[in-house]
Amino acid sequence: MQKKNCIKLSFDKCVSHRESVSPGATGFDVSVPSGPTSPPPADLASLFECPVCFDYVLPPILQCANGHLVCAACRLKLFRCPTCRGRMGNIRNLAMEKVASTVMFPCKYSSSGCTLHLVHSDKRDHEEGCEFRPYSCPCTGANCKWQGSLDQVMGHLTHSHKYITTIQGEAIVFMATNINLPGPKSWVIMQSCFGHHFMLVLVKQEKYDGHQQFFAIVQIIGSWKQAESFIYRLQLNCHRRRLTWEATPRSIHEGTHSAIMNSECLVFDTQVANLFAENGNLSINVTISILSSVEATPGASTKFTHSIKWKAGGQ
Ligand SMILES: [Zn+2]
Ligand SMILES: [Zn+2]
Ligand SMILES: [Zn+2]
Ligand SMILES: [Zn+2]
Repeated sequence: MQKKNCIKLSFDKCVSHRESVSPGATGFDVSVPSGPTSPPPADLASLFECPVCFDYVLPPILQCANGHLVCAACRLKLFRCPTCRGRMGNIRNLAMEKVASTVMFPCKYSSSGCTLHLVHSDKRDHEEGCEFRPYSCPCTGANCKWQGSLDQVMGHLTHSHKYITTIQGEAIVFMATNINLPGPKSWVIMQSCFGHHFMLVLVKQEKYDGHQQFFAIVQIIGSWKQAESFIYRLQLNCHRRRLTWEATPRSIHEGTHSAIMNSECLVFDTQVANLFAENGNLSINVTISILSSVEATPGASTKFTHSIKWKAGGQ
């Protein structure tokens, strides 16, 4: 039998929910345009460097009256051209836009180790999912702007979000108190097992106008590749009722926003919550298991379907 630790938690102070980035595509074919007269692609890309921030000037490309380029973000903050001090104007440079579509630009996180070069239209999608992108603070709703590498995340959490309790063990009971308070609210707890930290988040918010719902999800303080080795189960139990959800944990790199929007988590409404709550407190059984090495081979996770079981009375 697995030992069950129990802890009572009150909701944290976070009320608003930060948008998180959705997972992007990973892996791109890298083909470099070549021809007898083509300069090396790196040189071509440097023609598109913004003189202010050194990011790339990508379509739509606008120039000053004398033909100097500046990136869209810097343009918003400037009245005069940083190169010639002339007026910025609104002149579009269609020729440069055409050239831009033939150039392979390095990923924004190349200095952190990403070696990919991409056409500009693929660049943003890749960068959102790039494994070299810094991690953001996983505390949804805390309005925390922290970013850093994966191995700095736990240090940040213990230093700046001390209210988060950690429970050791694969099977724990997480009690969310005062669930009948109106949302948006969130409850957070950290679970530590298998040498990893997992963050359980219960959120009460409106997804549709006037309809408050609960969303519960487990995310690993780790990459999506590490997440694929695990499975989590959330279960509500009360008398003869049981509600179960099983899935692969999310990575904190992806965040929970898109999972909540797509209902890729345990979702229940306030009436269901009250079927399982006692005195306004809701207990959620959380179990994390590790997939065997055979199951955890790449691609095996697709065999794992998210399942939801609903049993009411009479079993
Ligand atoms: Zn710029
Ligand atoms: Zn200029
Ligand atoms: Zn990258
Ligand atoms: Zn933070």
